[in-house]
Amino acid sequence: MTKINTIMTVGAGQMGAGIAQVAAAAGYKVILSDIEQKFVDNGMRTINSNLEKMAGKGKISADTADSVRGRIKGSVGLETAAEADLVIEAAPENVAIKKDIFTRLDSISPAHTILATNTSSISVTSLAAMTKRPDRFIGMHFSNPVPVMKMLEIIRGIATSEETLQTVRAIGQAMGKDTFLVNDFPGFCGNRIIIPMINEAIYELMEGVAQAEDIDGLIKAGYNHPMGPLALADLIGLDTVLSIMEVLYNGYNDSKYRPCPLLRKMVQAGYLGRKSGRGFYKY
Ligand code: NAD
Repeated sequence: MTKINTIMTVGAGQMGAGIAQVAAAAGYKVILSDIEQKFVDNGMRTINSNLEKMAGKGKISADTADSVRGRIKGSVGLETAAEADLVIEAAPENVAIKKDIFTRLDSISPAHTILATNTSSISVTSLAAMTKRPDRFIGMHFSNPVPVMKMLEIIRGIATSEETLQTVRAIGQAMGKDTFLVNDFPGFCGNRIIIPMINEAIYELMEGVAQAEDIDGLIKAGYNHPMGPLALADLIGLDTVLSIMEVLYNGYNDSKYRPCPLLRKMVQAGYLGRKSGRGFYKY
């Protein structure tokens, strides 16, 4: 296995900051990077507030919170990738942005460094192809919020080596995650199940099968889901749900993945869920 001392996250948003926090809690040195200092500062603030809450609830000691914080350093730009053994990219879900990041990371990072992406839906193999190290390239799909959710979906690209896979799996376990190995197909494993389920719930709403509260309530009460599919869509963001449906539809060329017209209409209206204050529910 590749020896990993330093982990860098590219992007200090919701996911990047969460990944940095769990990596530092697992004892790794961490570099939290973004394109501007203010985004790095935002990420640091999120981490500090999470650690304070955990210490306040007695989940960790104040000393542990300090040492986790002390292992994270902020950085602007990608140059510090020269110091990292593993780089986990958590920049926006945009193919052009991610391809550019990996082209540059490949030239800055040492030869042994593993490059990973936290993409929810973009082909891991296509991003690996931007580099000269597709064997040391992998998908690490965490779930939001990272410090809370246990899932780590590890996506093997067509050329990912066994050594890379085992190294990343061990790191995921050290971060306290349950790791699941999947091959690189559109929607990977989890989203291919969950997102079409949400899409079907939106069809039910559009066709008048039931009202939103009844669709969600029924799924919670009858199938033991902690949250109904429409409330979950509001949490994920309707734009993200639509973009994953489009990845599935285009990736498999199968009409069973057609995005519901009501989903498309709501995204066009700017009803994106919690983040915009209105989705299937008002916030
Ligand atoms: P976010 O918008 O909260 O954070 C993205 C960060 O990337 C921002 O801080 C932004 O400044 C930074 N950024 C923008 N351009 C950049 C560049 N060129 N280089 C480096 N950083 C750049 O987004 P997020 O929710 O953290 O999502 C990040 C990734 O994680 C996406 O690929 C998303 O699909 C994936 N993901 C998100 C979730 C989720 O529920 N939010 C879950 C799993 C995976």
